[in-house]
Amino acid sequence: MLIIGLTGGIGSGKTLASDYLAEKGIDVVDADRVAREIVEPGEPALAAIAAHFGVEVLQADGSLNRAALRARVFADPAERSVLEAITHPAIRARILLHLQAATSPYVLLVSPLLFETGQADFCQRTVVIDADESAQKARASSRDGVSETQIASIIAAQMPRSERLRRSDDIVVNHGAPDDLYLQLDDLHQKYLELAAELNHG
Ligand code: ATP
Repeated sequence: MLIIGLTGGIGSGKTLASDYLAEKGIDVVDADRVAREIVEPGEPALAAIAAHFGVEVLQADGSLNRAALRARVFADPAERSVLEAITHPAIRARILLHLQAATSPYVLLVSPLLFETGQADFCQRTVVIDADESAQKARASSRDGVSETQIASIIAAQMPRSERLRRSDDIVVNHGAPDDLYLQLDDLHQKYLELAAELNHG
């Protein structure tokens, strides 16, 4: 199974790109979605979080109170490590399950923290969706309604753009219109289909 890791900074266009490839029939595993999935009611990771942090990080209906949990780990690196020791292995295991269930010629693993979390290890190739900072700020703030200053602090906390570009095998430039993005993705899609065919015959 050919696994392609797709990453990029906030507002770079990861979702737009992966939605486009999904329309071509490519299965997409979204690491952000998996991170929410593994803390749903009934999940062992949620039970472990409640056991460590107490019921005050749960809502009355038993679901996770994200704001309360965020407040607990925000200024406390030790508590943050505890949380990550619970969630990261659960996220990796669930990502693997979803990847193994994929049936398309190749599968995309979309993750904003592909390199930071080691999720790139699952992938034979990686592609970065690259936008300049002004495009990232304008797009993310108009989508989420948050200020460009807040977006700037998120960008500052993410892996530097230069490092992401250095580490990835393929680069898609998303500075212009969506159609420019789609043209580049058409080429990559062909390339990945060929790679997948080689893998299956080799
Ligand atoms: P995040 O990591 O914050 O979830 P993302 O990388 O998934 O972001 P998208 O949600 O795909 O980014 O794009 C951010 C916003 O910018 C969306 O509203 C999207 O429709 C818009 N957008 C992305 N690329 C372009 C483009 N080339 N032209 C115009 N708008 C775009």
